[in-house]
Order: sequence, then structure tokens, then C-alpha cells
Amino acid sequence: MAELSCDICGRTPVRAQILLEGAKLLACARCMKSGKIIHRFDEGEQAKEAPPPPSPMAASEEVVEDYAKRIREARQKAKIPIAVVAERISEKESYLHGIETSRLTPTIEVARKLEKELGITLIEKVEASSAPSAAAAKKKFSAPTLGDMLEGGK
Ligand SMILES: [Zn+2]
Repeated sequence: MAELSCDICGRTPVRAQILLEGAKLLACARCMKSGKIIHRFDEGEQAKEAPPPPSPMAASEEVVEDYAKRIREARQKAKIPIAVVAERISEKESYLHGIETSRLTPTIEVARKLEKELGITLIEKVEASSAPSAAAAKKKFSAPTLGDMLEGGK
């Protein structure tokens, strides 16, 4: 099987195929929220019919709700034309315009570039309410060390 990586940030594994700006992209769990999910891949695609788990992601980074306002205000304050900002972060002007008018949500990667370029904060850490630490602990627990396995074979 070919190793697919997220078309947006390059991470693996790819979790979904999304529609973003009219383009079909493969996206990881983080980036899939940036567009419209066309098809969601579950791990190994075995559990196709199974309902999604209540909280697939324990904690993640999300773009703040008023990103459009923050970007627009920072850009206007700095008196930088939208086209210039777009060029500096290597994105299309129309895309950035869509972001500033709240029509489009920037991906974390784009938000990060805008944060740097404009000196603002656009990304916040989001902790899922359903005990992320417990989920993490469970995951850790389910992976026994070699030592554990040897011990168990006594
Ligand atoms: Zn991604």
C-alpha cells in the first residue's frame, strides 16, 4: 500500500478526503476540518459501517472563531494589501480574501503563516471535554513493552 500523506500539511495518516476550494484533497485528522468531508477513512477502512467514536481526537489545535476579524484588523493596521500578504504566505489572494470575509476557514498551516506574518494569534489549543488524558493513558497501556510480554510468558 502506498503511504498517503495529508495534501495540506503532509502528515500521516490520511483520515479523509475533503473538498476545499473546489479541490479534492487528502487530509489528516487535523486538516480534514478545514473543508467539507467527502469521504472519511477509518483506520484500515475495516470499520466502515461502525459509528464514529465519540471523540476521535483528544486535543487539537483549532483556528480561533474570529480569525477573519483578527486577520483583517492586523492587516489593515499594518497597511499591507491583501495581495502582498497572500504572496508572502504563498497563498492565493482569493483564498485569503475568502478567509478575511469568513467564507473560508484557514487551515492550521495557513493560520500559522498568517500568525507569523501579521504578528497575531489565530490558533488555540482545544481540549476535548471527554478526558483526553484518559484516552492517552489507555493508548499507552495497550502497548506493552517487550519486558512486559516476557514477564507475562512466565
Ligand atoms: Zn494535515
